[in-house]
Formats: sequence, C-alpha cells, structure tokens
Amino acid sequence: MTSEVRDVESKHGSSSRNASTVLEKTPKGIVLGKDGKPCRVCTTFRDWTKQERKKQHGVTEAVGTFSAAALNSASTSSIPQAPQECPPDVEQLGRATWTFLHTMAAYYPEVPSYEQQRSMKSFLTTFSQFYPCDPCAEHFRDEMRKKPPRVESRWALGRWICEMHNLVNEQLGKEIFDCDKIDERWKDGPKDKRCD
Ligand SMILES: Cc1cc2nc3c(=O)[nH]c(=O)nc-3n(C[C@H](O)[C@H](O)[C@H](O)COP(=O)(O)OP(=O)(O)OC[C@H]3O[C@@H](n4cnc5c(N)ncnc54)[C@H](O)[C@@H]3O)c2cc1C
Repeated sequence: MTSEVRDVESKHGSSSRNASTVLEKTPKGIVLGKDGKPCRVCTTFRDWTKQERKKQHGVTEAVGTFSAAALNSASTSSIPQAPQECPPDVEQLGRATWTFLHTMAAYYPEVPSYEQQRSMKSFLTTFSQFYPCDPCAEHFRDEMRKKPPRVESRWALGRWICEMHNLVNEQLGKEIFDCDKIDERWKDGPKDKRCD
C-alpha cells in the first residue's frame, strides 16, 4: 500500500476505507483496473511513465530520468506533464470530465420537463457505468446509490454534482469547494470581470 493510500485511511478513518481501497495501488503507484491489470487511465502520468521507463530501461525513479518531452516546459513544477498527444491520465480525464459535468449542470433548464429529468438521470447512470477509470467509476456508483442524482432543477443538479465532486476531493485530500460558487466558476465568471 502506498503512503498516499495510508494517509487517506488515517485521515478519514474507517468510513473512507471503502473509497481508499477502491483506489488500491500497487506499491509503485500504478492503479489496477477491474481486470486486475495496470490501468493507464486510472493512474497519474507520472507514476505510469516511471514504471514504463523502468521496465524499458531499468532506470531509477528520479524525476530526472523523464525525457525532456515529458516535462512541461511552461511549468515551474518538477512534476512531469504528459505531452499533448498522450492518452489521458487519471487527472487529465478527471479535469476534462468535471468541466463537462459542471458546465452541463450550469446550462441545464431551470425547470426541466419530466422527459428532461428522466434523460438526465439515465445519462448519469450510463456515465457511471462507462467512466473509463474503473475504480473511480465504482466509487462514483457507490456514492450515487447513497445519494441519488437530483435532477428536478438547474440548482439541484449543479449542487448534486458539486457535492459528488467534493466527495472525490475529500477522498484525495484536496480542498472542499464552496458549492455556492458553482455559477461563478462554471457559468458567469468572477465578479471582477477578469474572464469577460
Ligand atoms: C466521476 C469522477 C470520479 C473520479 N474519481 C477519482 C478517484 O477515485 N481517484 C482519483 O485519483 N481521481 C479521481 N477523479 C479525478 C479527480 O477528481 C480530479 O479530476 C483529478 O485529480 C485532477 O484534479 P485537479 O486538482 O486538477 O482538479 P479537479 O478536481 O479535476 O477540479 C477541476 C476544477 O473544478 C473546480 N472544482 C473543484 N471541486 C469542485 C466542486 N466540488 N464543485 C465544482 N467545481 C469544483 C476547481 O476550480 C478545479 O480547479 C475522478 C474524476 C471524476 C470525473
């Protein structure tokens, strides 16, 4: 078990055991899919390339062993970023998906018809079955069972997705987002107009 997984367990106690074990990693940071094999889209680029390069060249895990192409030259961070043409890792896929989900909720009808509500429920159920990071999807489905989607209004859906995202944030030890700010973040932009 990695220290990251251990940290999550010790921080959140047994109630988060499910969440953390869902993301059980090999000691090298590679997350396994439900087929028991290393899952690229469930793993960070950094951990994936570390392993792959080790396998290919028998190199050490130091950051300095990454190719220049794998380093994001625009960033001052020493964490390597995937070149644009690489398949998504768990973080890139996550960011893109949350962007889509929050934006979809922001533009959902204020008062959706019965048919629209049904379609949205059906979409979210299907989404949770096919999200390509298996352990993420499994966790999402578990949470959806405990807290079924709210689709009766734009406000309710936006709030529900925000809360689901916060559950993942909590599991990963990230900051909890203030759900009163979803419209500012995903629809209207900040009051100082820097996005206009
Ligand atoms: C359904 C789903 C399940 C996932 N499960 C896992 C998992 O089990 N393990 C794992 O390692 N990764 C998981 N991920 C990926 C993870 O949530 C992040 O997307 C990824 O770690 C990148 O994080 P980030 O810090 O760049 O920002 P993200 O968490 O991707 O957030 C993007 C932006 O959304 C805004 N934001 C943050 N929180 C909220 C919120 N609650 N409401 C509204 N806006 C918000 C912030 O402005 C943030 O910059 C999952 C992603 C999805 C879509």
